[in-house]
Amino acid sequence: MRKKIVAGNWKMNLSFAEAMALIDNLVISNENTNDVEIILASPFIYLHQLINRIQSNPSFYISAQNCSEKIQGAYTGEVSASMLTSIGVDYVLIGHSERRQYFHETHDILKEKINRALENGLLPIFCCGEQLNDRNSEQQFDIVKKQIEDSLFHLNNHELGDIVIAYEPVWAIGTGKTASATQAQEMHEYIRKIISDRYSKALGNQISILYGGSVNSQNAKELFECDDIDGALVGGASLKESDFNAIIKALIAVS
Ligand code: PEP
Repeated sequence: MRKKIVAGNWKMNLSFAEAMALIDNLVISNENTNDVEIILASPFIYLHQLINRIQSNPSFYISAQNCSEKIQGAYTGEVSASMLTSIGVDYVLIGHSERRQYFHETHDILKEKINRALENGLLPIFCCGEQLNDRNSEQQFDIVKKQIEDSLFHLNNHELGDIVIAYEPVWAIGTGKTASATQAQEMHEYIRKIISDRYSKALGNQISILYGGSVNSQNAKELFECDDIDGALVGGASLKESDFNAIIKALIAVS
């Protein structure tokens, strides 16, 4: 059975007080999520407090938005995977398009980050997705394949089984443009196929693949009804309690 997940990516938003109020209200509203996991990807500085706040609720998991590809040492400003595990963080986003674009994270760096995360028992949410010009030139499948091959296909079966993939077409992130359910389903099915071809059909079927890109309370249901979409990675709408709750409810309704 694939994990069903709604993950919120807060990015560099919310004050401490706002973040604590949001988590407290989300926990109150989501006592029974019927096996749907709620993951919150927060700035490093709030992670420890968030872990304390969700302890009584088994539906909630906490994610970092990044980790270093280095193990430890003189890397001022970096946070290692082992530090995240040591405070009880569950997941880490790796390869978000904003990290690729603004912080020049290459396929090789992402591969190392995946390795550090897995070595330390953190579950990676690996983000991939094409730019608008790639889609316009019908290269979206090749681009996503290369991202997955170069950063994930060195893993063995067991390791790959710990990865959650988030397909996030870059042209849909924070733009209000969503991939149609047909476009999203087509890419999710393709991702499952390349994993099945390289590993096994069983593994291809087991991996949770989330859609990300302007998911909101209006479009979530149609996306979640697609066979190969196991949930969403949500940016903007995760900052608003009612919108995020509506997305969670939409996934619970189809699960
Ligand atoms: C994201 O940042 O991962 C994302 C999908 O953002 P948004 O929902 O705002 O498009």
